[in-house]
Amino acid sequence: MATFDYDLFVIGGGSGGVRAARISAQHGAKVALAEEYRMGGTCVIRGCVPKKLMVFASTYAEHAREARDYGWDLKEGAFDWPMFMGKLRAELNRLEGIYRTNLEKPGVEIFDARATLEDAHTVKLSSGKLFTAKHILIATGGYPFLPGETPGIEHAISSNDVFLLEEQPKSILIVGGGYIACEFACIFNGLGTETHQFYRGAQILRGFDDEARGHIAELMRERGIDLHTGCDVAEMKKQDDGRIWVKGSDGRTGVYDQVLYATGRKPNSHGLGLEEIGVKLGRWGQIEVDAYSQSSVPSIYAVGDVTDRVNLTPVAIREGHAFADTVFGGAPTKADHDCIPSAVFTQPEYGSVGLTEEQAREREEIEVYCAAFRPMQKAFIGREERVLFKLVVSAASRKVLGCHIIAPGAGEMIQLAGVIVKMGGTKEDFDRTVAVHPTMAEEIVLMKQPVRTA
Ligand code: NDP
Repeated sequence: MATFDYDLFVIGGGSGGVRAARISAQHGAKVALAEEYRMGGTCVIRGCVPKKLMVFASTYAEHAREARDYGWDLKEGAFDWPMFMGKLRAELNRLEGIYRTNLEKPGVEIFDARATLEDAHTVKLSSGKLFTAKHILIATGGYPFLPGETPGIEHAISSNDVFLLEEQPKSILIVGGGYIACEFACIFNGLGTETHQFYRGAQILRGFDDEARGHIAELMRERGIDLHTGCDVAEMKKQDDGRIWVKGSDGRTGVYDQVLYATGRKPNSHGLGLEEIGVKLGRWGQIEVDAYSQSSVPSIYAVGDVTDRVNLTPVAIREGHAFADTVFGGAPTKADHDCIPSAVFTQPEYGSVGLTEEQAREREEIEVYCAAFRPMQKAFIGREERVLFKLVVSAASRKVLGCHIIAPGAGEMIQLAGVIVKMGGTKEDFDRTVAVHPTMAEEIVLMKQPVRTA
């Protein structure tokens, strides 16, 4: 029988790889992990965590304005970007350290190096060292995609670069209409940067519930974001003063301190030697895997964004854990991709779980329950901003097929609503539950009549 240096070699120290390595080691496997950049991956270093801290930072100016309208004697100050960024970087260093410790404790050996594949059981490090492993797990994540054909694209930054900016831009153009574009539009707008957004399609957040998309777009505009749909960048040029001149596909022109492209992410699978050893890749470079995350080469598995299934941190973590239980824990486990709640951290947030109205309508007869209103806290000080609570219900089974919430704290609310929808809760289960008064969320159990059936 062949002997290997390791039972498992993980390539990539992000959420999926770290979970897989740690649990495999706890199951008794001899594990190594290689990471070429910083431990923690996209989520910790240049994604969810720093983004959420920026979301928090960007909400305080509006809080201060609201506080004034409630009677507080507060003056609006300026945002100290360098101070915040210093703290942010220190926090990321701290978290990176925790990720490292969590791997070292169960005995995972860490290599701070780039790793590529030599064959189905051999990994080569950038140091030149070769190691063999019975199983290899690819967890290399994704990278921001910028359309290379746009003239002047080299002047644009991606979400990776935002956290490295030394100065707060006075003005910014954000290109794209997905999660990242909308979140950063709200962040920069909240921080006081003059914020413009171009999205090539008819409405932002494609794939989400149409009614919710319209509601969010309206709120973003009301908050001051200059959002243009049906508009892409045609051309960009850097001016002598360092600012960027942009011409839109609809002929409009503008000059911005920064242009941020948030036009999607691609699987980070190139240059690893995968195709050379027969690992099947999809059209976008995603590693094709089965329900147990096994690739077309039996000793090679993949989890997380590099497989382009559902590109969310908690999903990568679940996939990594399921891999470890399957291969080393004696408990074959499929990662469950059904009914995953998620939140877009716009201001206000949009939380959703299950089907959109449009998806549900294609499948069966439905009833739609929806309430949009000005919440007490905002109405009191004359704010027009409305929240939205929406349930998409099966007419036959009465099950709640989808839940959509746009409100401050919707990310927190949808985590709980997600349990009910995942359990197969019915509209009558919601109706039976007594309201918590006075809250915004009580509306979710008080909607008596469908606004439409389809
Ligand atoms: P998305 O796929 O969500 O959005 C990409 C956007 O860019 C779309 O609006 C798309 O338009 C547009 N686009 C794509 N190609 C081009 C092009 N060539 N020219 C102009 N526009 C283009 O990707 P994101 O980058 O926003 O986020 C990546 C993934 O990261 C998300 O899908 C999500 O899974 C995850 N994420 C999750 C977050 C969360 O949970 N809160 C936060 C951030 C990221 P079109 O719609 O027309 O295709």
